[in-house]
Amino acid sequence: MEAMRNPFKVVVVTGVPGVGKTTVLEHLARIASRKGLKLKIVNFGDYMLETALKEGLVKSRDELRRLPLRRQLNLQALAASRIVEDSVGELGENDFLIVDTHALVRTPAGYLPGLPFNVLEKLKPDMIVVVEAEPGVVVERQARDRSRYRGDIGGVDGVRRLMEQARSAAIASATRYASTVLVVDNREGAPEEAALKLLEALEGL
Ligand code: ATP
Ligand code: AMP
Ligand code: MG
Repeated sequence: MEAMRNPFKVVVVTGVPGVGKTTVLEHLARIASRKGLKLKIVNFGDYMLETALKEGLVKSRDELRRLPLRRQLNLQALAASRIVEDSVGELGENDFLIVDTHALVRTPAGYLPGLPFNVLEKLKPDMIVVVEAEPGVVVERQARDRSRYRGDIGGVDGVRRLMEQARSAAIASATRYASTVLVVDNREGAPEEAALKLLEALEGL
């Protein structure tokens, strides 16, 4: 029978741009190391960006979602393979691979699934986390973060719509490998609270 899991635990963390995934995971890394849990946190976009920069396709990560779709699909497939390859041999059965990514990517050609079957077949997630916050709060976070360009996500209504569709996409992606789905609220000023909720769920896997 086909293996339903990787030899380590895999947690895929999703959420609309600017909701605070990377920030919450920074807090998670700190809390987990105090608890003696071994986590490897990787950013899916970093893997896609590394190849795209080498090939001269983009200058920054926020350009990736505006590349031609077939390019994005190639980068996506390669990223998924490499992420798992880089963890085999490094992580044991009680360790966690945490993947900072997206269940749905807003592109000019429509919503692109971040976790289609070919990606899931590599990652085989034990759990898919959906980080959420009030859409208005997300837009404020996007505006405050001058290190990134998220102006294409579309204001409060655009963020609300994407958030609704992205939650559905996460649930759809969870069916392939019977991943659990955890919705985590990243409240303003309290990213460590979201990280703690995540940690509690990790301990249940
Ligand atoms: P992307 O998908 O585009 O990478 P992200 O979900 O990783 O986005 P972050 O970069 O973690 O988002 O956060 C976006 C901005 O929001 C940052 O400036 C961060 O400091 C801020 N932020 C994150 N979480 C909170 C929070 N709970 N309260 C206040 N500010 C927050
Ligand atoms: P991030 O820093 O998480 O926003 O990642 C940068 C960019 O990488 C995203 O805006 C997407 O264009 C791309 N990306 C990240 N994860 C995925 C994924 N699973 N599928 C397709 N594109 C992705
Ligand atoms: Mg991020």
